[in-house]
Amino acid sequence: MIGVIFGPPGSGKGTQAAKIENAFRLKHLSTGDILRSEVARGTPIGKEAGRIMAAGDLVPDELIVDIVRGRLPEAEAGEGVLLDGFPRTVGQAQALDNMLSEEGHKVDFVIALDVPEAELVDRLLHRAQVEGRADDTREAIEERMHEYHKLTEAVLDYYSRHGVPVKRVSGVGRPDEVFERVKRAVSISSV
Ligand code: ADP
Repeated sequence: MIGVIFGPPGSGKGTQAAKIENAFRLKHLSTGDILRSEVARGTPIGKEAGRIMAAGDLVPDELIVDIVRGRLPEAEAGEGVLLDGFPRTVGQAQALDNMLSEEGHKVDFVIALDVPEAELVDRLLHRAQVEGRADDTREAIEERMHEYHKLTEAVLDYYSRHGVPVKRVSGVGRPDEVFERVKRAVSISSV
């Protein structure tokens, strides 16, 4: 089982992914978390990605595709994988399809979280005070929203056109309320 949790910055992908991981026993693979750990450890990848991330831009497709290619086999060895933050461009989605088809696998479902943009910005500015993430400045947030509309949104059309079920779920409300909707969407998609 391969699922994707999808949505703009601040939509709660990471929060919902952790709940899905528990409830459905899927392995959570977050490219944002992987990159932040590379940055924290000062690895060559972290050195390349850190500045790009802090500006709110996307790291190059090749770099992120290589990371996922390296991690996917181990994650796939379990009952399934939940991708968070990937794919974020149509090129990444195509690369993922190629990787999976080598093993006779495919993306089984996409859950897309919908949250109005004004609330997203409020959430991210609030998180800036709590967590101090380098890319939660007003400028970087604007750039991340811009990249989302310019490059990432199109990934949903890509999946719809390729016959992958895309379930849109409102991401507004308490995390457990949102999770009730997400759970229903995953259950419908994964039968
Ligand atoms: P958010 O969805 O809140 O922006 P993430 O943790 O998913 O947070 O990603 C943080 C940053 O990491 C992105 O703005 C981008 O710079 C980088 N990143 C993560 N995943 C990808 C990806 N698949 N492709 C390109 N860049 C990525």
